[in-house]
Amino acid sequence: MPVPLLDLKAQHATLRAETEAALRRVVEAQQFILGDEVAAFEREIASYLGVPHALGVASGTDALLLALRGAGVQRGEEVVVPSFTFFATAGAVVNAGGTPVFADIEPEGFNLDPAALETAVSDRTRAIVVVHLFGQCADLEPILALAARRGIAVIEDAAQAIGATYRSRQAGSMGQAGCLSFFPSKNLGGYGDGGMITTADAALDARLRRLRVHGQTGTYLHQEVGFNSRLDALQAAVLRVKLPRLAGWAAGRGRHAAAYRERFAALGLAAPDGPLVLPQELPGRGHVYNQFVIRAARRDELQAHLKGRGIGTAVYYPRPLHQQECFAYLGQGTRRLPVAEGACWEVLALPVYPEMTDAQRTEVIAGVASFYGAAA
Ligand SMILES: *Cc1c(COP(=O)(O)O)cnc(C)c1O
Repeated sequence: MPVPLLDLKAQHATLRAETEAALRRVVEAQQFILGDEVAAFEREIASYLGVPHALGVASGTDALLLALRGAGVQRGEEVVVPSFTFFATAGAVVNAGGTPVFADIEPEGFNLDPAALETAVSDRTRAIVVVHLFGQCADLEPILALAARRGIAVIEDAAQAIGATYRSRQAGSMGQAGCLSFFPSKNLGGYGDGGMITTADAALDARLRRLRVHGQTGTYLHQEVGFNSRLDALQAAVLRVKLPRLAGWAAGRGRHAAAYRERFAALGLAAPDGPLVLPQELPGRGHVYNQFVIRAARRDELQAHLKGRGIGTAVYYPRPLHQQECFAYLGQGTRRLPVAEGACWEVLALPVYPEMTDAQRTEVIAGVASFYGAAA
């Protein structure tokens, strides 16, 4: 029985009639750019996350780009980002005109290490992009405290973490701006690209709404140069069908994660001297498992073994951003960020999508167990 890393067809099968009706509604209305569908979805996301404002943009990457522009990042100013994250986190900083400064992560949650942040900030730091990787929030309290002390903006990259909580607060609701992605593989995935920015700041919301329509202040009047970056109405219609199911899907992901944890422990694979390190649920945090990422010293062999059994896995991420060729000009490639570098060698994401059956999950466990010579 093959087990893919993600099965979007299985999810679509549960939503077919509703999404087709929603898409038809937009086609009949012939209102494709912004309009009621996008506005309604923006209100629904704002209410879901408990934030005053939410505005749809073309992608999660654009959400970061506009949020950084909104934070006033000027050429030559620094933005601290974790080195272990999806590329867009740092790519957006460069496209906004800023200079990324890469910081190390903490090993337990793969997120920005508050102690590393302390040494990464300087007089030129304008913003921090804190990423909630794999569906679990970073340790925001010390990060927000440092930022407030130094007058630095915090932007949350919550692309992988919609619905995750930190001390009962929603991911994306705690910084100056929160950035969401509706890329199909995210927990709330559209049928194409899409993104959203959340904020409690009404003036920032108004500015970002101008920036997404070329900086337009009135009909063909422009105060500043902006972007063409809107959430598509067709995507909003699909996402409105999915949003009411999001919490149930996260619960399904959590059940798979708990079962993995229980079985791998019972097999002795996750003991302190065992071959696997399992993802931890850190105190005060609600994890939504966009990915279930284990660590294994023999990661590449394990991945090949699982592939041979028809089990899909992925390496998020094989190279830290401070060592990417495109950032060589920053001169940070020879810096040692040992936790981020070590993670790149060891991480492996196992299937954790909510539509995975218990039998499929058992296949994954058996595949891992057989690699280590344990009987599942
Ligand atoms: C997916 C992702 C993004 C970018 O989102 P897109 O919608 O694909 O542009 C940014 N940051 C992180 C951490 C992501 O996982």
